[in-house]
Amino acid sequence: MARKKIIAGNWKMNMTPSEAVELINTLKPLVKNDDVDVLLCVPAIDIIPAMEAAKGSNIMIGAENMYFEEKGAFTGEISPAMLADAGVKYVIIGHSERREYFAETDETVNKKVLKAFEHEITPIICCGETLTQREQGVTIDFIRQQIKIAFLNVTAEQASKAVIAYEPIWAIGTGKVATTEQAQEVCKAIRDCIAEIYDEATAAAIRIQYGGSVSAASAPELFAQADIDGGLVGGASLKADFGKIVCYNK
Ligand code: PEP
Repeated sequence: MARKKIIAGNWKMNMTPSEAVELINTLKPLVKNDDVDVLLCVPAIDIIPAMEAAKGSNIMIGAENMYFEEKGAFTGEISPAMLADAGVKYVIIGHSERREYFAETDETVNKKVLKAFEHEITPIICCGETLTQREQGVTIDFIRQQIKIAFLNVTAEQASKAVIAYEPIWAIGTGKVATTEQAQEVCKAIRDCIAEIYDEATAAAIRIQYGGSVSAASAPELFAQADIDGGLVGGASLKADFGKIVCYNK
């Protein structure tokens, strides 16, 4: 069965609740594409008003992060049960900014992935190399390590529903998009790694996004690649341009 594309926005630390409602109202008529699952991952405080604003449209609302404990003395964190109760079906896990600024590791990513599945929330698991790693020729080794640890103790059934976002760190927010060949090469290596951990059926089912300065201009070629099943979009998801990215095949 063909994999349905999934195009997700990552708003990062942008948009107040009222700005979120306004942007969703602008985007609603622009993102109609039945070939694509459309998702906006928004700051925690925006989730509930964003859900309300997106009602009746094809926009799903996701989270940008969650903690791996159920509840308790973790001031400032948001639990998987809170997200699930708000109707969240997708959560970004292990974005490179979380790894860099909030000390997330492959191990905490794995804990969060397991916890998200426990609550029937689909994790969008981020991986990606630095410029130095690419220049030193260790990109694939590094990403295979990230994937293997992220998927520790994840069942094949769970893995087949997961989303992986390949985001070369040097391409995030820099305007430098990986070439189509670079993006496809790594996304294929990720799929091969999933086949190695699980089996061909799981590898064929899992959806792998590319992220890193995706724009309306670069989306059509990137999303046409055999192993690229959509995108994780930062900057361009804060603008009407996101509509053009979602409708990349129209
Ligand atoms: C991201 O933050 O996931 C991202 C890919 O950002 P940008 O599209 O702005 O590079």
